[in-house]
Amino acid sequence: MSKTLFEKIIDREISADIIFEDELCIVIKDISPQAPTHLLIIPKKVIPKLSDSTEDDKQILGHLMLVAGKIADQLGLDETFRLVINNGAKAGQSVFHLHLHLLSGRPLNWPPG
Ligand code: AMP
Repeated sequence: MSKTLFEKIIDREISADIIFEDELCIVIKDISPQAPTHLLIIPKKVIPKLSDSTEDDKQILGHLMLVAGKIADQLGLDETFRLVINNGAKAGQSVFHLHLHLLSGRPLNWPPG
């Protein structure tokens, strides 16, 4: 199996602006930011999309959310941010390695597009 784009970033084969890393995940700046703060929170385990996750992934999924909250706190986002997971191409997913988008720094309208 060929590596996903994000695996190549995790393995330092492709450069990225890494702002956090631990044993379960990595957090990078999105290369094409849709808000003043646009981060991607990516598990090291390759789960192609959220709907492919299983009970075994509970710890990882919870960890990603907790990391999102901690990073938002550290960056002083004033508890104002949005997390997005695009699940499937029709929902806008383009990289099939699960990731959370963390967006902040501009008005975030509802409903999203
Ligand atoms: P999605 O469309 O939800 O799968 O999100 C994939 C995201 O990855 C998009 O927001 C892209 O801008 C971002 N992206 C693609 N290539 C890179 C890269 N080399 N470094 C950082 N972000 C990237």
